[in-house]
Amino acid sequence: MQEIYDMVIIGGGPGGIGAAVESKILGLDKILMIEKGDNHSQTIRRFYKDNKRVDKDYKGQVIELAGHVDFKDGTKESTLNYFDSLLDNDELDAVFNSEVEKIKKDGDIFQIITTTAGYASKNVIVAIGTMGKPNKPSYKIPLSLKSRVNFNLDKCSEGEKLLLVGGGNSAAEYAIELSKTNTVTLNYRRDKFTRLNDINEKMILEFNGEEKLRLRMGVDIESLENENGLVKVNYTDGYHTVYDRVIYAIGGTTPIDFLRNCGITFDENNKAEFDENYETKTKGLYLAGDIAVRSGGSIALALNHAHHIIEHILSTKK
Ligand SMILES: Cc1cc2nc3c(=O)[nH]c(=O)nc-3n(C[C@H](O)[C@H](O)[C@H](O)COP(=O)(O)OP(=O)(O)OC[C@H]3O[C@@H](n4cnc5c(N)ncnc54)[C@H](O)[C@@H]3O)c2cc1C
Repeated sequence: MQEIYDMVIIGGGPGGIGAAVESKILGLDKILMIEKGDNHSQTIRRFYKDNKRVDKDYKGQVIELAGHVDFKDGTKESTLNYFDSLLDNDELDAVFNSEVEKIKKDGDIFQIITTTAGYASKNVIVAIGTMGKPNKPSYKIPLSLKSRVNFNLDKCSEGEKLLLVGGGNSAAEYAIELSKTNTVTLNYRRDKFTRLNDINEKMILEFNGEEKLRLRMGVDIESLENENGLVKVNYTDGYHTVYDRVIYAIGGTTPIDFLRNCGITFDENNKAEFDENYETKTKGLYLAGDIAVRSGGSIALALNHAHHIIEHILSTKK
């Protein structure tokens, strides 16, 4: 007989971990978290720079935590350690290196199909984030430059001349940190930053004023070319510069095909449909975290979604 879980959580980031912890504490019994990476929190691991400051009220958005996860300001490392301790203490059931490909509902039970196995559950939370699919520029990235044009810092090494592209907190934080060990230019197509939190904006302007990094504002990139194995960036103002590496930090997008495969519907603006309890049109199928916000997700928001969903499920069982 196949075991039937009360809840299967897809994605082991803050939303997924929050859902697992709340389920255990609030009394949902048989739960399983499925994560495609070899460990939890792949967005934090892959996209946060080492020692990055992690803000609870990210981008100045003040959030009161509603649930049982006591997440606080810290660093990348302290945040990962804290999530480690939550997973260990609560002895949550989780599988790693297993990517969910599809979910379908047979009667009252969901069948969850992964690259390695199949599971059955009464409820499902999809908390897969958006960074599995980082945004890419509209112009072509030459094939020969693939290893020098990146969307996270994995390949970055000290001393390289870098171009960071983007106007959000991720781009700013990458630029600030990397400028301590590299020659860094930050390019943003608008004249002014509008989405930076106060600390990041102050630091960026200070670093620029002190020439620790260079800002190239109000100009876009037209194309990239390979120049002797390096990246020649052609700007729309007619100038060009050659860099060792270009890193885009321009956010991520909802993995629409995957969600459609899971039976999730979309409105005319291509936004996933869900109600005030984060429940989709399929009863028992919920969205949490970055894929359940229109813009500007955060760890605290993901944790609050998770808490709300579990409370909602338990209230419908009474
Ligand atoms: C550079 C950067 C800096 C940031 N700094 C902050 C900050 O200081 N403070 C803050 O609050 N927020 C910050 N954020 C935002 C924060 O990281 C996100 O809002 C948060 O991680 C969202 O959590 P989530 O659980 O929705 O998704 P994610 O954290 O993206 O987790 C999703 C998980 O699902 C897994 N997954 C994806 N697809 C599948 C699948 N098909 N099957 C199984 N598993 C799957 C992924 O591997 C991943 O581990 C930052 C984001 C970035 C990119």
